[in-house]
Amino acid sequence: MGTGSTAQGTVASPVLSVRNLSTSFRARDKWKTVVRNVSFDIGSQETVAIVGESGSGKSVTSLSIMRLLSEQASRIEGEVKLNGRDLLSLSAEEMRKVRGNDIAMIFQEPMTSLNPIFPVGFQIAEALRVHQDISKANAKAEVIRLLEKVRIPNADKRFDEYPHQFSGGMRQRVMIAMALASKPKLLIADEPTTALDVTIQSEILDLIKTLQEEEGMSVLFITHDMGVVAEVADRTIVMFRGDAVEIGQTADIFRNGQHPYTRGLLAAVP
Ligand code: ADP
Ligand code: MG
Repeated sequence: MGTGSTAQGTVASPVLSVRNLSTSFRARDKWKTVVRNVSFDIGSQETVAIVGESGSGKSVTSLSIMRLLSEQASRIEGEVKLNGRDLLSLSAEEMRKVRGNDIAMIFQEPMTSLNPIFPVGFQIAEALRVHQDISKANAKAEVIRLLEKVRIPNADKRFDEYPHQFSGGMRQRVMIAMALASKPKLLIADEPTTALDVTIQSEILDLIKTLQEEEGMSVLFITHDMGVVAEVADRTIVMFRGDAVEIGQTADIFRNGQHPYTRGLLAAVP
């Protein structure tokens, strides 16, 4: 038996600290709670995974942290701190800056975050220019450096290509390059490899791990796949129907997961 979820959910100087996060959506005249009292920390350069079946509340947890849910239709309670700064009490404007500068997010389908009518290089350059006072020529050189960093072959030639000219895996690399443009402290990756072929999946996972070390980022990695968890996560949170039913070192959860849902997940790992 572990030492209990609280002890294993917290770390000394967390980059992200989430306490009793609950999120509810308005359904006609009632509120329906879909994330309930979730608490965890992410340490410096640590990867924490949230794993659970579809509909368990993984994306809502990350969207609540980022404050990307409609304020009219949702209610978020609890505490979310980024390096000690309380995100839930920031103004919308301050929160926009946090999203631009401190936390980056990548999603399952990169096409939805890229604008189809602009070349990829231009879009990353724009993202860079939001963060740095940088000339057009220097921005282009920096974009090519970022594209090389995410290991896109012939990066200099691909600068002027449009999103549809990239394969799914290459588009996800583009999104990772875009995420790195702001030098984020925290990267939230919501099922970033789910839509990709298995071989491409492991290349992207390798890339995220390498970049995490190079950039010194912390990562919140959301997935429904225990195989992916084993590959990327230092610690793991298992979500089931809105509750964090288990939290601990990934190796401990694999060795000694306690909750029946966790045991079911583990039994399904090949
Ligand atoms: P997943 O673990 O698959 O990422 P989600 O976090 O997306 O699950 O969803 C958790 C629950 O919240 C689901 O029941 C989903 O239908 C519900 N939900 C998600 N977004 C909204 C929304 N904007 N309005 C109402 N209900 C939502
Ligand atoms: Mg989701």
